Amino acid sequence: MSNMHTSNTIDEVKSQLTKIREQGLSIGFVPTMGALHKGHLTLIKEARKENDFVVCSIFVNPIQFNNKTDLKKYPRNIELDMNMLQKEKCDLLFYPSEDEMLSTYQVEEFDFGGLDQVMEGKFRPGHFQGVATIVKRLFEIIEPQRAYFGMKDYQQLVIIHKTMKDNNLPVEIVPCSTIREKDGLAMSSRNQLLSKVERKQAATIYKVLKKTKIHSGFYTVNEIKQYVEAQFEKSKNFKLEYIEITDMYTLKPLKAWTQSNNVIACIAIQVGNVRLIDNIILFS
Ligand code: AMP
Repeated sequence: MSNMHTSNTIDEVKSQLTKIREQGLSIGFVPTMGALHKGHLTLIKEARKENDFVVCSIFVNPIQFNNKTDLKKYPRNIELDMNMLQKEKCDLLFYPSEDEMLSTYQVEEFDFGGLDQVMEGKFRPGHFQGVATIVKRLFEIIEPQRAYFGMKDYQQLVIIHKTMKDNNLPVEIVPCSTIREKDGLAMSSRNQLLSKVERKQAATIYKVLKKTKIHSGFYTVNEIKQYVEAQFEKSKNFKLEYIEITDMYTLKPLKAWTQSNNVIACIAIQVGNVRLIDNIILFS
């Protein structure tokens, strides 16, 4: 098995990748916050298929957390992560410290054209400015041809796509399907924070989303939202933050099905103290 190299500094990673580019090799990039699972590994596999050289970054980005406790309890397992990446034949891991990434960073104010006014952007103020600042910074360091993002974080995917286009960064953004546990729960680093009971209950999220898809032909947008709200009122362990039915590209919430031909339902919910998100395409 070829050895994965780990770099902690921007200078080192840049000089490594200059050599790769000089050989005419293409670079695929998977940015993550670590505590890796099969969802992340699918992104690595996709990158492996389409590129000569695969780079993964692990950086728990403090400027995208609007809640200090959430940042503090975010799971970190670097040893396990490195083993998993090595097995997936990742070529280079970029694992910088907070200082390395943030000591010289400039706060950027991106104009997301309203994409950040709903859902995650509304419930986590400043979140997407933090995400886009770091993703742009990572792209400038790594200069990949392609970068891989999961559909699970759908609003993030749309916002990154726009930001890179607006800033003329020549990176192809590749969306990857959401990988799920056997019972349908979307894989997430945060799932390991759930108690046994909460973990079982969390399977309800995707079950309800699948129902919304079936119901979308028969009920109004409002009726579906009410249906979802009612499902999560059944247990006090659930605290629904939002269920939003939006156009897939503008992310504008719909009032009627006729307002869009490409529709996605997105949800954020607290199960116990753990905040989870998921989504399902209703039609496109
Ligand atoms: P994170 O480490 O949670 O910031 O996620 C890093 C990348 O992995 C993002 O592009 C996520 O959308 C993606 N990802 C996370 N969970 C999944 C999943 N269950 N299936 C597919 N991609 C995922």
